[in-house]
Amino acid sequence: MSSTARYRVTDRPATVPVTTFLWQSTGAGRVEATGECPECRCVTTRVWEQVQYVTKGPTVPGKPAFDDGAPKYARCHCPTWHVDRPAEIPDGCGASFWIAPPPQGVSL
Ligand SMILES: [Zn+2]
Ligand SMILES: [Zn+2]
Repeated sequence: MSSTARYRVTDRPATVPVTTFLWQSTGAGRVEATGECPECRCVTTRVWEQVQYVTKGPTVPGKPAFDDGAPKYARCHCPTWHVDRPAEIPDGCGASFWIAPPPQGVSL
């Protein structure tokens, strides 16, 4: 995979959540969302560990439930090399963005 997008840190993620990510649960409390980064258009995967669900309780007080319907913050972790990426950054194009939860909720 190749991309002409340059590495660029977006410290203010776009306010419109992307809705094109595919969600799947890959184990107890582990959720993945895979889709196209809105900045560089590479495929990237965001992984959440030890998520908790309101609908599957009990929940840990003070820890937000994953299925609260709110968009999830993500950073681009695409495997593509982007020009100008600092050596200490292993992957991604520097973009951060919000991923909208699936319409049916994240009760995977
Ligand atoms: Zn990207
Ligand atoms: Zn990329």
